[in-house]
Amino acid sequence: MTYNIGVIKGDGIGPEIVTEAVKVLDAIGTKFGHQFNYTEILMGGCSIDATGEPLTDEAIAAAKASDAVLMGSIGGNTSTSPWYKLPADKRPEAGLLKLRKSLNLFANLRPAYLYEELKEACPLRDDIIGEGFDMMIMRELTGGLYFGERSTKEENGQLVARDSLTYSETEIRRIAKRGFDIAMKRRKKVTSVDKANVLDSSRLWRKIVEEVAADYPEVAYEHMLVDNCAMQLVKDPGQFDVILTENMFGDILSDEASMVTGSIGMLSSASLNDTKFGLYEPSGGSAPDIAGKGIANPIATILSAAMMLRYSFDLDAEADAIEAAVKQVLKDGYRTIDIMPRDGSTVKQVGTVEMGDLIVERL
Ligand code: NAD
Repeated sequence: MTYNIGVIKGDGIGPEIVTEAVKVLDAIGTKFGHQFNYTEILMGGCSIDATGEPLTDEAIAAAKASDAVLMGSIGGNTSTSPWYKLPADKRPEAGLLKLRKSLNLFANLRPAYLYEELKEACPLRDDIIGEGFDMMIMRELTGGLYFGERSTKEENGQLVARDSLTYSETEIRRIAKRGFDIAMKRRKKVTSVDKANVLDSSRLWRKIVEEVAADYPEVAYEHMLVDNCAMQLVKDPGQFDVILTENMFGDILSDEASMVTGSIGMLSSASLNDTKFGLYEPSGGSAPDIAGKGIANPIATILSAAMMLRYSFDLDAEADAIEAAVKQVLKDGYRTIDIMPRDGSTVKQVGTVEMGDLIVERL
C-alpha cells in the first residue's frame, strides 16, 4: 500500500527527532512492503521566518491532502526568541491551534506506559508500580470549558469572571465512540471520568457514554469521578486501560499520568478527527536548550509514528514491530541523556541518530 504522510519538522529539536522517525518508517516500509510518501509542511517559527505566518493556507491544504501528519515540535525559547515579540496570533503556537481547528481534531490520545527498564524514573513506590502500567488517556480536545463563552464584567462595583462549560450529545458521542474503538484495540476496558455528582455536562456525558457502551459488549466500562481518578492514578495506576474524559479533566489527568512514567522524551500523542486522519507528535516541546546538539531523545516521535500506523492506517503488526524494537533497545542498555539512570555504569549513552539506528536494527 502507499500512504501519503505530511511531515512537520518544526523548530528546535523537531527536525532532528522527525528525521529519526522517518528513518524508522522507511525501514518498516521495506520490511512490510509499503510505500510512504512524505510532503514537508512548514509550521511554527520556521514558517514565520519563511512566510511571516505560523501556518499558511497552503500548509493547511497540504495537511488536509495527506493521509496523516507526523510532527516534531514547534516554538523557541519564549524569553529570548524574536517570535515571542509578535502578537499572540502570529506566534509559533498559533499555527498548531489553527491546524487542530482546521482539521477538527477533537480526540487527543496520550499513552502513559511504564517501561520496565525505566522504572527508576517513576516517582511511585515499587509496591504501587507492581507489574507496571499501560494506559491511554483519551481527552476531548475541542469542546468544554476551554471553548465556551467567557467574560469578565463589572457587577455591583466588582469584577466578575465567567467561563461556561458546554457539551452537546454529538460531541460526547463521537469521542466516546473513539474511546471504545481504541479500547477494542487494547485490553477492552474504558474508565469514563466525569463529575456527575455536581455538573449537568457530566450527567449528560455519563448518559451518552452508557448509550455508546451498549454497542461495545466486549468492552468493560466504569464511571469514575475525576477527583477519585486523580487519586487512583497515583494509588493504583495498573487498573487503567483507556481513560475517557472531557477537555479540562483530560488536560490535568494526562499530565499527571505522564508524570508518573517519569520521562517526557518517551511519550507519544495523537490528535484524531472523525475520519482516519490524525496528527501525531511527541508530548514534549521543541527543547531549544538542547536543539542542534544531537542528544534529543527521538523515541517519543518514533512511537508517535507507530501510533500513526496503528490508528490512521490500521497497520497493527507494523506498529507492534516498532514498539517491540523500542523495548528491545532499552533492554539492550541504550539510553539518550534524558533517560540515563543516576548510576549510568550499566547502560550506554547514545545520541539522537544512533538511537534511531539502533531501533532500525531491531525491527
Ligand atoms: P520542552 O518540552 O521543550 O522542554 C522541557 C525540558 O524537557 C527541557 O529541558 C528539554 O531539554 C527536555 N526535553 C523535551 N523533549 C526532549 C527530548 N525529546 N529529548 C530530551 N529532552 C527533552 O518544554 P519547554 O521548554 O517548556 O518549551 C520549549 C518550547 O516548546 C516552547 O516554545 C513551547 O511553547 C514549545 N512547545 C511546543 C509543543 C508542541 O509543539 N506541541 C508542546 C510543548 C511546548
